[in-house]
Amino acid sequence: MATTSTSTSTARVRVIARLRPPLPGEVCDDGVRVVSHVHRGGEKEKENVNDTQPSNLAPGILILKDPSSSSLTQQTQHYPFHSAYTPHDTSAALFTRDVFPLLNNVLSGSTVTIFAYGVTSSGKTHTMQGEDGIIGMVVDELFKGGGDLDISMSYLELYLDAPYDLLVPPTQRRKLQILSTVSRGTNPNPKNTTFGHTIHLPHLSTHPISSVSEFHTLYQRGVRHRSTGATLLNSGSSRSHAVLTFYVGARGKLHLLDLAGSENNNLTGNDPQRMRESAAINTSLSALGQVVGALNEKSGGSGARIPYRSSNLTRLLSDALGGTSLALLIVCLAPGIKFRGDLVRSVNFASKAQ
Ligand code: ADP
Ligand code: MG
Repeated sequence: MATTSTSTSTARVRVIARLRPPLPGEVCDDGVRVVSHVHRGGEKEKENVNDTQPSNLAPGILILKDPSSSSLTQQTQHYPFHSAYTPHDTSAALFTRDVFPLLNNVLSGSTVTIFAYGVTSSGKTHTMQGEDGIIGMVVDELFKGGGDLDISMSYLELYLDAPYDLLVPPTQRRKLQILSTVSRGTNPNPKNTTFGHTIHLPHLSTHPISSVSEFHTLYQRGVRHRSTGATLLNSGSSRSHAVLTFYVGARGKLHLLDLAGSENNNLTGNDPQRMRESAAINTSLSALGQVVGALNEKSGGSGARIPYRSSNLTRLLSDALGGTSLALLIVCLAPGIKFRGDLVRSVNFASKAQ
């Protein structure tokens, strides 16, 4: 049995896994299982009952068995996560355990970033913006206070590493600039950052929202624009990263990212546009992995340099990842046998990020 390093509670970026249920007709990979050691409602996860307990009791573990080996010599690998969600777990369970506690940080003026990472069809959009997705639950929670908080939002996508505003009409679609301002003298927001710079996009529209329904109207507009853009480019919305941001009170910030599909973007083929997309996705996702990995190493004491500048995705988030900010990386996993290669890649990405 091989075991990767355990995630630690000091990590700036918590990494969690969610295995979605099989879709109708999907041939499942029975070598993939998720086990949770977290007690929910006083009862241990049922899936855990017949399991040989790994010595390393991480709160959640993904178990991979090599499908090609016989049962006697079967290679089994255990991958620990801060939390792991089985196909039976709801988005509400994930919200309660891993998202809700971060909202207090936003309310008290910190920056929080939540990513959904995974191959196309692994459940990123379902987790983030589904009917009971975490975006809806976050908004309900933010407005629970009775609306005495100033909240505004922006929504953009990064396509071919360039940012575009999703809340302006598609006819006005143009590349946004990303500017970095060096903060001089005393940091105006010591709670939020130790970076010495602030990122801003001068032409990105921000919209005050005063109710849950105002949010949904704007957000649905953005979602439509994302898919219109993708259709115009004969692409798919899974080829762009979507970044929804809430600005809460004077200083709180919450980024929610639905990342481009992490499928094997190999750079062969004869469609130049698809190849450009693949190259941009490869570069930005690997930059993200390196940044997150370096941040977690740093919180463990090493002085690694954080390679924010390797892509616009990481540049855009360079004043949001690090310092006293917190992040949650949700690694979405598909159980189909045809996704084993992608699943292993996602798990490797997660191990490097922890
Ligand atoms: P992605 O955004 O990663 O490409 P989707 O969120 O669109 O993937 O999910 C693919 C399909 O699987 C959708 O039909 C979605 O409704 C379904 N699905 C994903 N996760 C779950 C889940 N946890 N429970 C039920 N259905 C899910
Ligand atoms: Mg999606």
